[in-house]
Amino acid sequence: MARYTGADCRQCRREGIKLFLKGDRCYTDKCGIERRPYPPGQAGKKRPRDSEYRVQLREKQKAKRIYGLLEKQFRNYYKLASRMTGITGENLLRLLESRLDNVVYRLGFAASRDEARQMVRHGHFMVDGRRVDIPSFRVRPGHVIAVAPKSKDLTVLKAAMISSSKIEIPGWLEVDVEKLTGKILSLPTREQIDAPVREQLIVELYSK
Ligand code: SF4
Repeated sequence: MARYTGADCRQCRREGIKLFLKGDRCYTDKCGIERRPYPPGQAGKKRPRDSEYRVQLREKQKAKRIYGLLEKQFRNYYKLASRMTGITGENLLRLLESRLDNVVYRLGFAASRDEARQMVRHGHFMVDGRRVDIPSFRVRPGHVIAVAPKSKDLTVLKAAMISSSKIEIPGWLEVDVEKLTGKILSLPTREQIDAPVREQLIVELYSK
């Protein structure tokens, strides 16, 4: 699966906001946006014009970057969201939050979504007792996510558990740190999704 391979901090600097893409480093003074709080590139410090299109585009790019998706994958989620009942923007965010890699990150089993994706791909997680190695796997209420028995001593997992004490587990998830399991209590409401995204702008952009 194709993925963005450039510098993570560059993406935050482009969006002018911390997207928390690098786990622990994001909470230190080594954070790229703390050190260079202006967009990357030669024209970085010049203030760009704020056209309506540009504002909508930046919002979409920000959401894509937070969840680590490329344009085609992101647009497919939008198409799916627009066919569902309810508010398209909220459906979109709910679909993104329901990805297994996101849930692994939210449960604190990985320090970032990137790391979660890699761990899922390497088969370190099970859903309802079956190994699932597809990061985009869509979780549903009632699903139980568990660290695979052979993966419980992974150094990366232990480090993530320490690092994740800095993040709050959202109310739609329940975690058991002793058993290394997490349960999906419900799908998130908009209020339970803390992604700093104005989803309506994304809908406006794609509806043109
Ligand atoms: Fe973004 Fe984290 Fe890099 Fe800071 S350290 S710029 S939050 S990816």
